[in-house]
Amino acid sequence: MAAPDARDVVPDPEAASEPWPIPRTGDRVDLHAHTTVSDGTLAPRELVQHAADLGLTALAVTDHDHVGGIPMAQRAGNQLGVEVIPGIEFSAEHGDLHFHMLGFLFDPDDAALGHAISEVQRYRADRNPRIIAKLNELGIDVTMEEVEARASGGLVGRPHMARVLVDKGAAASVQEAFDVYLGEGGEAYLPKKRIPAEEAIALLHGAGGVAVMAHPITVEAHRLPDLLPALLELGLDGLEVVHSKHGPAERARFAALAAEHNLVPTGGSDFHGSNKPGVDLATGVEGNVDVRYATLDALRERATRYR
Ligand code: AMP
Ligand code: FE
Ligand code: FE
Ligand code: ZN
Repeated sequence: MAAPDARDVVPDPEAASEPWPIPRTGDRVDLHAHTTVSDGTLAPRELVQHAADLGLTALAVTDHDHVGGIPMAQRAGNQLGVEVIPGIEFSAEHGDLHFHMLGFLFDPDDAALGHAISEVQRYRADRNPRIIAKLNELGIDVTMEEVEARASGGLVGRPHMARVLVDKGAAASVQEAFDVYLGEGGEAYLPKKRIPAEEAIALLHGAGGVAVMAHPITVEAHRLPDLLPALLELGLDGLEVVHSKHGPAERARFAALAAEHNLVPTGGSDFHGSNKPGVDLATGVEGNVDVRYATLDALRERATRYR
């Protein structure tokens, strides 16, 4: 008897994250998107619904420092025919350089990874009230409760503080709130916990996944030629060549670097819903993002090294 076509199989909405033969509706994927679990404005299910509406074949949910949205997104994906890939975005450091590290295709229930995530979250829980205290010292009347109310139950962070500052008229825009108060160099700035790149990469590999340097445009261009070989030595697997912040010149430069260092070139929009207006799922800013399923095949092939 022939195997049933995936379309004939009725998905069980309550089945968690079993591999599911997803009918391929097209070839477009997005490998970088945030939900309300971190600083996006769509809940995991809403994000997957949006991906389905756009006809995406696969979507990686890459919340900052959190894997809590993945099971919900996978349940929705099973129902809607979108393959949901486990992802995460860590704030990492190597020497004096700070950058973001994406992880894909790991086991979200891995114990060591879970432990590291709890450490980062504990640090964040401690940092938030200290930022609020700094704002209060600057004469801004804002409370932790008001900020939490802005966070839809997920991770609380600076984007939520920025919105409260705008609501209260203490800043004209979210951007101004970051420039004047919350961002690096701002009057109430406190850094967040960064994971050494070595540790981030080892954690992801230990959980059966791959490590990809996110939006390399955020690292000073002249530092990348030294940073990449160092990260490669630590086991880096990929480079996010396509991203909503990358113009054609960056895209070409990062594609060349990825090829030179045998890194898997990946891509995604970095969609945050209305927290990053103008950045659309799958297409980025004015169509500067376009990622194909073959990218995912290449990451999967790479991940076989760590299984
Ligand atoms: P947190 O996790 O609390 O450190 O906040 C980091 C998040 O704040 C980032 O993921 C961005 O979404 C947002 N963010 C950081 N810097 C800026 C900025 N200059 N303007 C607007 N949003 C920013
Ligand atoms: Fe973010
Ligand atoms: Fe990032
Ligand atoms: Zn991101």
